Amino acid sequence: MTEKTNHKRLWSRLMEMAKLGATPNGGCNRQALTDLDSMGRALLIEWASEIGCSHHYDEIGNLFIRREGQSPQLPVILVGSHLDTQPSGGKFDGVYGVLAGLEVLHTLTEKEIDTLHPIELVVWTNEEGCRFDCAMMGSAVWTQSMPLQQAYDLQAFDNHARVEDELIRLGQKGQVSARYFPIKAAFELHIEQGPILEHEQLTIGVVKGAQHMSRHNISVWGQEAHAGPTPMSSRRDPMMALSLFLPKLYQLAEEYAPDSRITFGIIDVEPASPNTVPGKLMLTMDIRHPDLATYLDMLEKSEQIISQSCGSLDLEFQLKQSWHAPGVEFSEACIASVQQAVDDLGYSNKVMVSGAGHDAVNLARVVNTSMIFIPCRDGLSHNEAEYASPTDVGKGADVLLNAILSQAV
Ligand SMILES: [Zn+2]
Repeated sequence: MTEKTNHKRLWSRLMEMAKLGATPNGGCNRQALTDLDSMGRALLIEWASEIGCSHHYDEIGNLFIRREGQSPQLPVILVGSHLDTQPSGGKFDGVYGVLAGLEVLHTLTEKEIDTLHPIELVVWTNEEGCRFDCAMMGSAVWTQSMPLQQAYDLQAFDNHARVEDELIRLGQKGQVSARYFPIKAAFELHIEQGPILEHEQLTIGVVKGAQHMSRHNISVWGQEAHAGPTPMSSRRDPMMALSLFLPKLYQLAEEYAPDSRITFGIIDVEPASPNTVPGKLMLTMDIRHPDLATYLDMLEKSEQIISQSCGSLDLEFQLKQSWHAPGVEFSEACIASVQQAVDDLGYSNKVMVSGAGHDAVNLARVVNTSMIFIPCRDGLSHNEAEYASPTDVGKGADVLLNAILSQAV
């Protein structure tokens, strides 16, 4: 048996929340630890108190709203996302996951459904990382991947205020330790922020994890020579190496499609003269894949391809990793609860991975967690035109409700 949320109430609360920091083009500017962000949290607390929920802040200002379970000592079912936005953000990014979480609590209370486990709705502090330069800050501290003091000392771009001072000013520096506690399952519902669901006309993304990713600088050295007198056969031209390895690297991505990503975002030669064979080639390569073994395989093969191409032309090369972010695989139990809920409700869906970072990616390192996506128009996010349809918004909340129920009962 499935339960449904109140789609109208959820939509009207989304529109109500969007008034706080509304921008002329229909977006939202409610940046972390500003007065507007604080007003958004106050509004949420007001709605939550109306259905009898308690709340508290932890030391880094993460807000927890609790609906008690029949066995209060049992591990919590956690649901939530963030209320802060980009300077020219939309009405849905983060906010949707929070208000859908509230809608789940409201529906349960209204239908007098008691759960064995307590359910907590969390609002993470500073997810966007635009006013303070650290995305997913609140969840990073809570999962112990960032020291509390380091977060406290971050300064705002606009007025140089410290995080800790802003928390005190807004009355959101709580007493409770900003550290993870026993959680049975955690869910984050979010707009996809990409075009896949809309393109395939599907309602729900069952998110199984986030991709592994890294960036590499490739340098190839040749010999500068005159473009006229130097025969092709006696050149040492790094562009020839590029012409060999580039098609093979795209072919490699093709072999691991559809989840593989390979991007050459910057390409540069020296001395960059139309009349000179380049002496040096530099380019960046960004490689991503959700599956660790496949990702490592792609890394190894890409190095072989570049090495063989340069070697066959007797050119020296260097491959250097400049950045790396480990991917995550979400909890199988959480993914199964989401899939079951989607199947029971009969909503169209596909299993997918997240291309963007989320608080859930931090959480996955310490607690059982997974995510649910709904489509957003033209795949747009971090944009005032960000939009999700009322139907999809409602259906995503239904999936969240039933996934939570299967874990909480
Ligand atoms: Zn978000």
